[in-house]
Amino acid sequence: MGDNTGSVIPFSRARVTTDDRKHRPGECSHHHIKLDTHGGIVTCRDCGASLTPFWALRMLADQYALAVAQIDRFEDRVSRADARILELSRELDQRVETERARKTAPDAP
Ligand SMILES: [Zn+2]
Repeated sequence: MGDNTGSVIPFSRARVTTDDRKHRPGECSHHHIKLDTHGGIVTCRDCGASLTPFWALRMLADQYALAVAQIDRFEDRVSRADARILELSRELDQRVETERARKTAPDAP
């Protein structure tokens, strides 16, 4: 894992806290982990706390699930926007057609 912080995906959503994690608001949530590949040690980049690999794995799994849910919501928004654009363009076509018919119709006396 490199040190390129530009590629870090920001997880702004608050994590759902479970009892066994004992995470309180305001405390470090250890979302930026550092992996020591030689010793197999996981530490928090922000506060330096040692974390168990299991804890890190579960945190990453949770964050992954959140990210996937967010992608699903974005995709849903995009498809709804597409549908709306199609709807509006049909409406516009219809208006143009109506206007054309009105113009070509013989003038009323
Ligand atoms: Zn931390």
